[in-house]
Amino acid sequence: MNGTYPWAIDAGFSSEDAIVIAHADDAVDDNFNYAWIVGVPGRHFDTAYGTADSRTIFADADLKLAVHLYNRCQKHEALMSLGRGLHSIQDIYAHRDALSTKSTQAGMMML
Ligand SMILES: [Zn+2]
Repeated sequence: MNGTYPWAIDAGFSSEDAIVIAHADDAVDDNFNYAWIVGVPGRHFDTAYGTADSRTIFADADLKLAVHLYNRCQKHEALMSLGRGLHSIQDIYAHRDALSTKSTQAGMMML
C-alpha cells in the first residue's frame, strides 16, 4: 500500500477508513486512468491552461464531494472521494519534473 495509509492514520482516521482512502488513491492509476486518450490525464499531470493546476482543481472538487457525501451519511463514498483527491495532490510532487511547463504540456497535447 502507498504512503496514503500511514498519512490517513496520522490524520486520525481508523485503520478501516485509512484502507478505503488508500485503495481509492491507488485506483486512480488503475484502468488506464493515466493514459492521455482513455483516462483523465489532468488528475496526474497539469493539463489546465492558465495559472490553475488541473490536479488542484480535481482535488478541490473531490474534497467538496467528500464533505457533501459525508454530510449525506455516505461515508464510504466520501472516503473514496477523499482518496481520489489525495492522489491528484500527491501527483503534483510525483510528476513535478515531468511536463513541468505549460509550453511542454501544450506540445504533448498536440502529439
Ligand atoms: Zn497518478
